[in-house]
Amino acid sequence: MELLNQKLAVYAGSFDPITRGHLDIIRRAATVCDRLVVAIGLNPAKKTWFSVPKRIDLIRDATRELQNVSVDAYDGLLVDYCKKIHANLILRGLRSTTDFDFEMQLATLNRDLAPEIQTLFMPASPEFTAVSSSAVKEIAMFRHPVDHYVTPLVAAEIQNYLTHQA
Ligand code: ADP
Repeated sequence: MELLNQKLAVYAGSFDPITRGHLDIIRRAATVCDRLVVAIGLNPAKKTWFSVPKRIDLIRDATRELQNVSVDAYDGLLVDYCKKIHANLILRGLRSTTDFDFEMQLATLNRDLAPEIQTLFMPASPEFTAVSSSAVKEIAMFRHPVDHYVTPLVAAEIQNYLTHQA
């Protein structure tokens, strides 16, 4: 069956909100896999600025020109979600040795749980190694512009969030 030979990758995270660092990984990964699902992992214990539907909208807007990229949300373990949608690759971005240590541990556990699913690491482009959703939110909280780190729609939604928080 043709589908079985397809490289279907899952890029999971909180994406609260999506940054240009995430987008750089998505754009580059979209050129090496057949299909890429950007999947928001639901974690009720984690306090987020943006609802899941809002985060989905922001990712869709940022990736709309990428034909083989779709957006979804999942709860439970990532490997179970991958099995459910028949994904054979887990894509992770690496910014630093701190990311590497954490990601190695995660990849090893995921390999124990589902050896048929491969983890792929993609290094961050140099201009995005310091970018994270939490850093962007902190910068915005102190009224500094974040346009360099996020799309115009995300910047507007961050502004909207802060206005309603005040
Ligand atoms: P979480 O909040 O659950 O840690 P994130 O949404 O921050 O998840 O990150 C999801 C994935 O994207 C991880 O593999 C992370 O290392 C990667 N990532 C996050 N920011 C960047 C960036 N600026 N450049 C490259 N990879 C990144």
